[in-house]
Amino acid sequence: MPIPALLADFVSLVFPRVCLACEDPLARGENHICTSCRAQLPYTDYHKLPPAENPLARRFWGRLPIKHALSYVRFLRRGRVQHLLHQLKYQGQQDVGRVLGRWFGQELTEAGFQAEFDLIVPVPLHARKLAQRGYNQADSFAEGLSTGLGLPWHASALRRTAHTTSQTRKNRLQRWQNVASVFEVADVAAVQGQRVLLVDDVLTTGATLEACAAVLLAAGASEVSIATIATADR
Ligand SMILES: [Zn+2]
Repeated sequence: MPIPALLADFVSLVFPRVCLACEDPLARGENHICTSCRAQLPYTDYHKLPPAENPLARRFWGRLPIKHALSYVRFLRRGRVQHLLHQLKYQGQQDVGRVLGRWFGQELTEAGFQAEFDLIVPVPLHARKLAQRGYNQADSFAEGLSTGLGLPWHASALRRTAHTTSQTRKNRLQRWQNVASVFEVADVAAVQGQRVLLVDDVLTTGATLEACAAVLLAAGASEVSIATIATADR
């Protein structure tokens, strides 16, 4: 056995590397998410459907012109996806966003979506929240998608101007009112005339993405599409 492989085995004996989705030990050659989890994630495959049949795109009909509405997996409670998102958002595991973003970006590239966007823009956190958490969980997904799609991403194109209260106990109208005026475009020149792919970790009602898309379009973005790691059923 070559020395580096021996060393890697020794290191993983002392610091076991575990799958970020199921916590089983990772085999050599596996990184971040094990092969079994990768095979069993509940993929939406919305990007393989004709746009008119994409259930996520239909949610935005009559609300805003969203060019493509994409999401990698379904959000299922108490499953691997919930565990992954918890690791990403609360345990500092930004590799979750990077890996899933890269895999999704590669799939989207194979499906021809690379030519559909110019710039990837993550939904921002408020500065105070960013300082508390130390990172924006949407950034790592944007970074991964950027690698997989071979397109640039811009962490500060948007700015969240107000610290909003939790969305979880609000209905759709209340959620919309809660976020409608809290986003602004911080770098207008960067988004003007651009086909923006707006990204976030989870889509629930879509109110946050809708509010961001509205200010991007108002600032002169030529199109807005959205992509999330996961989508929750309403
Ligand atoms: Zn696993």
